[in-house]
Amino acid sequence: PLTTNDLIEDHRICVCVRARPLNKKELTTKDLDVITIPSKDVVMVHEPKQKVDLTRYLENQTFRFDYAFDENSTNEMVYRFTAQPLVETIFERGMATCFAYGQTGSGKTHTMGGDFSGKNQDCSKGIYALSARDVFLMLRKPNYKKMDLQVFATFFEIYSGKVFDLLNRKAKLRVLEDGKQQVQVVGLQERDVKCTEDVLKLIEMGNSCRTSGQTSANAHSSRSHAVFQIILRRRGKMHGKFSLIDLAGNERGADTSSADRQTRLEGAEINKSLLALKECIRALGRNKPHTPFRASKLTQVLRDSFIGENSRTCMIATISPGMASCENTLNTLRYANRVK
Ligand code: ADP
Ligand code: MG
Repeated sequence: PLTTNDLIEDHRICVCVRARPLNKKELTTKDLDVITIPSKDVVMVHEPKQKVDLTRYLENQTFRFDYAFDENSTNEMVYRFTAQPLVETIFERGMATCFAYGQTGSGKTHTMGGDFSGKNQDCSKGIYALSARDVFLMLRKPNYKKMDLQVFATFFEIYSGKVFDLLNRKAKLRVLEDGKQQVQVVGLQERDVKCTEDVLKLIEMGNSCRTSGQTSANAHSSRSHAVFQIILRRRGKMHGKFSLIDLAGNERGADTSSADRQTRLEGAEINKSLLALKECIRALGRNKPHTPFRASKLTQVLRDSFIGENSRTCMIATISPGMASCENTLNTLRYANRVK
């Protein structure tokens, strides 16, 4: 298993993969595990270990990432190697982003938001909350304490290319680019937070707002990007920003042939934003002067996180272990592979 010695220091882009355990549905439908994580940075997609009649031959494929987390990994563990190293960045006047990318049901929300499987919604172990916890811990360090920093949080959703404030009854917000190329989400609520508890309340509030009025929570969240931000301000001026993003599900194959026009449009918009995201992260890694952030609303609102000297990003590609998901899993792994 991974230990702190394995922590890769000081890289601008970190890409890792996380596999979840087979879930109840996969177990009852006798879906078979086709994922193996043989070491701390390798993931293999292969034929099931059990002898079965396969309708199709599944070729063994191996991918290498910065880290690979198997089904026994905890959120705390994933956090330690992904978002935690980025907390310091925002204290050093930098911009940090952490994305969860993968098909619907692969564990993005579980990783970022927390455990919402049972009756009790526990967001205290998600990467949003763990990051907030460490921001408040870091704030107490003498050298940061004397800087007199204030912490704020925002939580919004991008659905079909439109921005909705999850901390303000899903108010629809406009995105403006001023003459100095600064992008602004007009009217976005920035809440003053003093402790982790304050942040947990906001996450709960935003989550319930995100899914309210929807026939199926997952049907909606699978089609929208959720952006949670922790902002540090010093005398009112932005000092650093950490954006934590639970992306829309990346499975969009069926959408292109959907009879429903709205579904097709939404699918196209999601594809577009995920492609733009990949290009923006690649540009960040290559220090390219031109970042194609205008290509989608998602990358546009994250513009200042992709530009600038002190920007760091991390992507957690979440995958389902079952054979039934292998097509989507391979797509996820190929995408993640191309980000760096
Ligand atoms: P997504 O947001 O990608 O659609 P979810 O995070 O909602 O997926 O996960 C789907 C289901 O799988 C949920 O019931 C969640 O609790 C469960 N799950 C996801 N990841 C894990 C994990 N690492 N360990 C245990 N259960 C998980
Ligand atoms: Mg989700």
